[in-house]
Amino acid sequence: MSARSGLLGGRVALVTGGAAGLGAVIATTFAAAGARGAVVDLVDPPHGVLPAGWASVAADVRDAASVQRAFAEVTSHVGLPDIVVANAGIVPPWTQTSQIDPAEWDEVFAVNTRGVMLTVREAVRVMRRGNGGSIVVMSSVNGWKGDPHLVSYVASKHAVVGIVRSVALDVGRDRIRVNAVGPGPVPTDALRSRMASRAAQGGPPVEDALRLAGAATALCRMVTAEEVANAVLFLASDLASGITGQLIAVDAGVL
Ligand code: NAD
Repeated sequence: MSARSGLLGGRVALVTGGAAGLGAVIATTFAAAGARGAVVDLVDPPHGVLPAGWASVAADVRDAASVQRAFAEVTSHVGLPDIVVANAGIVPPWTQTSQIDPAEWDEVFAVNTRGVMLTVREAVRVMRRGNGGSIVVMSSVNGWKGDPHLVSYVASKHAVVGIVRSVALDVGRDRIRVNAVGPGPVPTDALRSRMASRAAQGGPPVEDALRLAGAATALCRMVTAEEVANAVLFLASDLASGITGQLIAVDAGVL
């Protein structure tokens, strides 16, 4: 039996963007720790990705009614969520500042910032009906540091740290904790395909980009999705009962 089994026993978790990438690994990690739950995503997870006994609920985090319906469905089919991970996010293609497209800017903010706000708002509503809970928001190293050609993404990931710090102060009395995780680059399929399109725009080839990303950390490697999920598990669990309003970096010590 691993140290984490039972850590989330009896808990109900809801993970947005849980059909792929980091969200899918977070759901698997939560299930291994004893949580029941649901992934909420635009798409269903591919066969074999959804943890046994978990539900898959279709929703678009940009849309308030869709998010409300998803929470209602999870509450009636699985139970009142006491752990919510606002993970769904998108990364736009590289853009020079002089070429920023306002429509693309709005789309990045619609998913990464408005989507987090709508998810957190609904989480607070349901957790107030229960016994409180823990909300974890997926930020990024771009929640505190800039990167070239990614202004909208970096701004959206800074913005969610502001959401976390403010909401934590609003809802602490309701026994709701709110924290953010800031991963460095994680070699998910999404990151590899972004690196491939950047290579097509004059960036380094994918293997070089992966090597460079690993070399630019104290640990001389990228973090894994499992390491990010373990930090989310810690913040979601009672081990972090005294922690709220914080951004925890999981970045292998990005330089
Ligand atoms: P991913 O593309 O593999 O997964 C994102 C999931 O979110 C997908 O399943 C997608 O369908 C879903 N999604 C997108 N828009 C949605 C919407 N409007 N409504 C509901 N679901 C939606 O991405 P990932 O790499 O796993 O990233 C997950 C989160 O982690 C994002 O917020 C991302 O910004 C953040 N992050 C990723 C990395 C990385 O290197 N992979 C690093 C730091 C932060």
